Amino acid sequence: MNNLRLRDITYLKGVGPKRAELLAADLGIKSFYDLLYHFPSNYVDRSTVYTVKQLRGDMPACQLRGRFLSFTLKGEGAKSRLIGLFSDGTGLMEVVWFNRIKAIRQTYLTNNEYIIFGKPTEFNGRWSMAHPEIDLPGSKGAMQGLRGTYPLTDKLRNRGITSRTIFAWVQTALATATIIDDPLPPDVVARYRLMPLREALTAIHNPVNNDQLQRAKFRLKFEELLLLQLNIQRYTRRRRSMSGGFYFPRIGRFFNNFYSQCLPFELTGAQKRVIKEIRADMGSGRQMNRLLQGDVGSGKTMVALLCMLIALDNKTQACLMAPTEILATQHFETIAKAVALVGVNVKLLTGSTRKKDRDLIHQQLVDGSLHILVGTHALLEDNVRFNNLGFVVIDEQHRFGVAQRARLWNKNTTPPHVLVMTATPIPRTLAMTVYGDLDVSVIDELPPGRKPVETLLRYDNRRYDVYRGIGRQLAQGRQVYIVYPLIEENEKLALRSLEEGYELIKETFPNHRVAYVHGKMKPAEKDHQMMLFASHQADILVATTVIEVGVNIPNATTMVIENAERFGLSQLHQLRGRVGRGGDQSYCILMTRHNIAAETRRRLEIMTSTTDGFVVAEADLKMRGPGDLEGTMQSGIPFDLRLANLATDGQIVQLARDAASDILDTDPELTTAPNRRLSQAIAQSTARTIDWSRIS
Ligand code: ADP
Ligand code: MG
Repeated sequence: MNNLRLRDITYLKGVGPKRAELLAADLGIKSFYDLLYHFPSNYVDRSTVYTVKQLRGDMPACQLRGRFLSFTLKGEGAKSRLIGLFSDGTGLMEVVWFNRIKAIRQTYLTNNEYIIFGKPTEFNGRWSMAHPEIDLPGSKGAMQGLRGTYPLTDKLRNRGITSRTIFAWVQTALATATIIDDPLPPDVVARYRLMPLREALTAIHNPVNNDQLQRAKFRLKFEELLLLQLNIQRYTRRRRSMSGGFYFPRIGRFFNNFYSQCLPFELTGAQKRVIKEIRADMGSGRQMNRLLQGDVGSGKTMVALLCMLIALDNKTQACLMAPTEILATQHFETIAKAVALVGVNVKLLTGSTRKKDRDLIHQQLVDGSLHILVGTHALLEDNVRFNNLGFVVIDEQHRFGVAQRARLWNKNTTPPHVLVMTATPIPRTLAMTVYGDLDVSVIDELPPGRKPVETLLRYDNRRYDVYRGIGRQLAQGRQVYIVYPLIEENEKLALRSLEEGYELIKETFPNHRVAYVHGKMKPAEKDHQMMLFASHQADILVATTVIEVGVNIPNATTMVIENAERFGLSQLHQLRGRVGRGGDQSYCILMTRHNIAAETRRRLEIMTSTTDGFVVAEADLKMRGPGDLEGTMQSGIPFDLRLANLATDGQIVQLARDAASDILDTDPELTTAPNRRLSQAIAQSTARTIDWSRIS
């Protein structure tokens, strides 16, 4: 039987029904395939034999070669232990056993030569090693190379199944499986110089050296990522072939007049590139679904506006939806001001739009005289009907779900092009995977002349230094944000610290006006307070994270973030993006308790060391894993990736993506002979799920 997935693990020599049941329950290992793809999570180096003299206290497990000089039993009852005095001629090692003493005593002899393998520890100048693995020199167990340690559960360990047991079973499985079918077509293996599958499986379980291990890993990661990409791209291609979209061949007077007469600045290279990408979509006749990522302040709004103008030039309407009333209003004002001279009719629709204005909007939408509608969720309501909606922009995507996007599409018989804009920087490789159904454009360049925000980490005990700094900014006519975390588990406490902070600020800066915003306020009050700050009737804004998204107040140059340790990196980055929006040097001060953990400190130091949102996001991803990325998991990754890491294996993701695309170009449904195994492998990979949380 060639198909390893169909070979039941029960029939592997040494396993049997009882252990098979355990393996299935705890590790999801049911077949030979599952066992061979249960990879070591770590490797210990057994390629070198060390001497006692070479040992250092911080060494991981290592092996020594020598003899036992004596065995001594110490202590009594539960406290008894066996100590073997081991010598390799360069020094002594006390080998300690706390259990299985009798068996050990019978097995090992003084004056025989052994290889012992374990973690050496030093105490008062004496070396010891507890419960080492012991082999005869030249025996199979003492083989060379790197030795894997396997993910296991406590239950398995208690039943005597160790890394060594798994290793032995893997060897048996490899020996028994005379044929291992490679799901990858031979030309792919050749083109990407991949290790053949059997060789890779053999090597990953027992690599001769690190180089071989890396090549084996590369091959197996590539396989995983190729299957994943094939699955996503096949789905995307199907969707595209089904949904026709608007064909926008023209660039006309709206775009041209605006571009030549009203554009307030030269576009950055990145903005131009992204507009080209979007234009290509609009000219393809297929519906566009594109994610536009750009760090805070990178100028996404102008890109959106220019694209909306192209839609107008092609006799359709456009709309822009923002997650909050404040943001919608800001977008409306920006756009209305920008297009004032080119005869574009723009209106704002939110929950608080008056009935009279609302009626006019409805009427103009239907008769086609309204060109661009900006608004909040209010745009989604059923009574908002367009004459011909051709282009939809959604700002700050993670607040809107996929279902809501679909409601906008459905406003037309021809689905409008959709541009989703987000400032949450998702590493590109992750975006390619998580937003499989979206194409991704990235603005990776800020407009010229921006000064990076200077970020400082300050402990509570230097609060008054920080306040003096704020005082200097205020004296220069600048404005300041002071942000408190929203603590969901204890809202009362959070509110109290916010209120206390507000009182303290008012006391400290008696000659300045202080606005105050939190999530529990009535929307009208919130807007009023925000307006005070935006119009510079207030100099300081004390707020919870409600200000996180989008607010644009270039005169605000300083942000103090209280209890910064409570925020995720991506969130800190978003917050920080509220300052540094004008020409002045801006500051972001992260305040924390004095006694934060070293790890927390390292996390916050990423913020002080870079202002690049992608670097922050990558770091966040590495530290927390993709599962925590806010809002990104809604589409879910249907595969469980055993080896590949979307955060760190970006290059392989890219290669696999290209390979998948080449394959599907010639064989979209993977039906030709060389690709049929790929198709099977995808079906089988998507079906499998494991509860990884139980594995340590
Ligand atoms: P975001 O991508 O965060 O939404 P915005 O679109 O709000 O950024 O742009 C931030 C600021 O940068 C705005 O004041 C905008 O006018 C300005 N801006 C955008 N593009 C450019 C450019 N190419 N050159 C100079 N300023 C620009
Ligand atoms: Mg924006």
